[in-house]
Amino acid sequence: MYEHDGFLMGPERCIKKHWKGTCDACYLLKNEHVRETLKHTLTECPFYTSIMRAIFFNTIHIIDNDEDKRRILNGNEESIVKLHARELITGSTKHTKIQAIKRLNKVWPSIVGAMIDKIMCTRHQNANSDSPTQLNASAIYDSICTEIELYARTAKRKAEVKQNKLQIRYQYCPKEEESPIGKWKKEWGPLIFENNGRIRLRFKDFQDSPYLTIPQYETDADIQRRNSLRIHQANYNTQRTNSNQ
Ligand SMILES: [Zn+2]
Repeated sequence: MYEHDGFLMGPERCIKKHWKGTCDACYLLKNEHVRETLKHTLTECPFYTSIMRAIFFNTIHIIDNDEDKRRILNGNEESIVKLHARELITGSTKHTKIQAIKRLNKVWPSIVGAMIDKIMCTRHQNANSDSPTQLNASAIYDSICTEIELYARTAKRKAEVKQNKLQIRYQYCPKEEESPIGKWKKEWGPLIFENNGRIRLRFKDFQDSPYLTIPQYETDADIQRRNSLRIHQANYNTQRTNSNQ
């Protein structure tokens, strides 16, 4: 355990070699210098929050509750992540007004965990000018889905081991709904389906995410071309500064 005494990220403690204190996604995609703080990345950045909204909207779409749909359709899409930051960033399910999260209260923290983990990994990769930039929202979204499937698989395996133990060691056969597997099915059931023994998430592709407005940027080739030059320059400037010291 460790404690933070201030900003996790942000211009004050930015150790990036290039465009210090600036959000890489906003700069490389939209050519805008935006103060990069944790608040920006997780609640304001149009690039990263679009991925968070896709996960959120897909969950709501699966549970299909009218009140949830009304909430997200009537609200301002850009401020939705900020409005539900407690649920979407900390994974808290207490006192939430979203019925889908209430229904999935056992697995929602895993979904949020996978989402924040992948988004922060991408942010760190983009912040390192030696690594290739990752600015493909769809690919990041897919990696989050794979991670959630992995969590579902692990939870199932754990339930199976527990059930076997009950049977072998205690000769105890609980009723279907009380058994570890039954509980797993109840928790994960709405989100997944099994295809040839493989657990798959019911989420739609990023491009087909219900209710989601996909932010439009230039084509991938244009972005890559412009950025490769910028990153080359950033690396060159750092090398020059280092050799001057
Ligand atoms: Zn940004």
